[in-house]
Amino acid sequence: MLTSLRNKSVIVTGGTRGIGKGIAGVFTALGARVCVIGRNEHDGAVAAEALRGSGGIVTFCRGDVTKQPDMEAAVAMVVAAFGGIDILCANAGIFPPVPLEEMNESAWDDVFATNLKGMMFSIKAALPHLKHSTAGRIVLTSSITGPLTGYPGWSHYGATKAGMVGFMRTAALELARFRITINAVLPGNVLTEGVRDLGQEYIDATTASIPLKRLGTVEEIGHAVAFLASEEAGFITGQTLVVDGGQTLPESQQALAG
Ligand code: NAP
Repeated sequence: MLTSLRNKSVIVTGGTRGIGKGIAGVFTALGARVCVIGRNEHDGAVAAEALRGSGGIVTFCRGDVTKQPDMEAAVAMVVAAFGGIDILCANAGIFPPVPLEEMNESAWDDVFATNLKGMMFSIKAALPHLKHSTAGRIVLTSSITGPLTGYPGWSHYGATKAGMVGFMRTAALELARFRITINAVLPGNVLTEGVRDLGQEYIDATTASIPLKRLGTVEEIGHAVAFLASEEAGFITGQTLVVDGGQTLPESQQALAG
């Protein structure tokens, strides 16, 4: 059981649903104070209420990661409420499938704006406060798609998720002097609202391709993030942690069958 997250001040972008809500739930259970950020006020209020149910300290701040002023306002709110920021989980992301032949500038820009520019705006806003933490941590939610694998319809998405890892490696060097670490989790397929929207056929086909024969849970991603954010992980920076039930391992259908 990690004990070093007690009373830490944590921001989770995209924390109102899916993986982000799972991350927020794990941090809350470990005694951290958590602010979840998203655009939808109703979802945010419902998520914060549910997360508080276990007795945790959770706030919601409406914010769009693609808008720098929103992220600065969200960070100011967290600092006013919690007195600083120790951990940023840059998790907000979108994955609308678009085949390359149908790709246009707007579809490309939307995914890049949320997944890459939004990550950078979140980090830029939190950085002045992370510098004051005794153990500043940034954990990115990348993906296996892009850094390790491909999937038809997700050329733009895969580019952003690989881009996050490329960004991280230089950021780790620049942030080391402030004793801030930055690492990334690379989830495989996790059962979230966003994945449910892709349809049952996608879920069934994906389940069959995973050696553990199930999708991941949002809590399983949350536990990996919590480890990378803990003081116990203080000597790990610029690294990736794959959490995919073995999905990236099989070399062939025969290998998948065991
Ligand atoms: P999801 O269920 O669709 O939830 C996405 C979250 O991000 C929501 O809270 C959403 O809230 C928020 N969000 C989206 N755009 C935003 C914006 N511009 N500003 C602020 N918040 C925004 O997605 P998910 O499946 O949990 O995925 C979360 C992250 O994990 C993404 O980065 C995704 O790429 C990554 N990932 C997911 C899987 C998977 O299998 N689920 C696998 C690998 C990686 P609002 O809509 O209210 O803003």
